[in-house]
Amino acid sequence: MRHTLVAGNWKMNGSSESIGELLEGIKSGLATAGKAEIAVLCPFVYLAQVKQTLTGTSIGWGAQNLSEHSAGAFTGEVAASMLLDFDCKYVAVGHSERRTLYGETDAVVAQKYQAARKAGLIPILCVGETLDEREREVTEEVVARQLDAVLEIEGVQGMGGGVIAYEPVWAIGTGKTASPEQAQQVHAFIRSKIAENDATIADQVRILYGGSMKGANAPDLLAKPDIDGGLIGGASLDAAEFLSIAAAAP
Ligand code: PEP
Repeated sequence: MRHTLVAGNWKMNGSSESIGELLEGIKSGLATAGKAEIAVLCPFVYLAQVKQTLTGTSIGWGAQNLSEHSAGAFTGEVAASMLLDFDCKYVAVGHSERRTLYGETDAVVAQKYQAARKAGLIPILCVGETLDEREREVTEEVVARQLDAVLEIEGVQGMGGGVIAYEPVWAIGTGKTASPEQAQQVHAFIRSKIAENDATIADQVRILYGGSMKGANAPDLLAKPDIDGGLIGGASLDAAEFLSIAAAAP
C-alpha cells in the first residue's frame, strides 16, 4: 500500500514572516488533513526556520534543488550534505522550471538524483511534457527519456529510493489541470516502465501528480489508482487550500 504524499513546492516565494504564518496554519489544521503524509519544499534560506518550526511534528521538509557535486568550488550551489544538516527528508530534482530556465539536462538531473539518494535524501524526480510535445503526441517518449536518464546511472533499485512527480509543463502555474484520465494514463505508463525492470519496485514507488492541483480537483485526481499524491505549487502557499488537498487522499 503506497502512502499518499502531498508536498508543497513554495518555489521562490515567501518571507520569514509569511512562512511563519503558513507553517503555523498548516500545523494547526493538521487534524483536518487525514492520513496523507505532508511535506514542504522551501527556499534554502528558510530551511533553518522550517526545521525549527516543524521538528517534532509529522510534517516533513526539504529543498527544491541541490548540486550534483558533493563539495568544492561551485559558487552559489548547495550540496546534499548541507540539506542533511537541516534534517531535510526530500529534495525536488528536475523541476520543469529548473530544466527550462536553468538549462538542466536529463543527464544533470540524473546526477542530482543520484547525489540526493546517495546522501540519504529522498529525491522527488519531476518529469513531464510541454504543450508542444503533448500536441505532437510524444508525451510517453519524453517521459521515458527523462526516466531513462536516471535508470541508466541509478538502476531500478535507485528508482525505488525516490518519488516521481509527473508534472505536465502546460499545467504548471497555468490553472489548466490534466484531467484525471490524462494524468492516470501517464502515471500508469511510468509505473509500467519501471515494472519492465522490477515489478515490486514499480508497485512500491510513489508517483505524484503536479500541475494546478487544488482542493477542488484533488479528489478526482487522487482517486486514480496510479496517482499517489501531489506536488503542489501555488495552492501550497495557502494553508487551508494545501490541507484540503491532503484531506482528499482516499
Ligand atoms: C509545481 O511547481 O510543481 C506546480 C505543480 O505548480 P502549480 O501547482 O502552481 O501548478
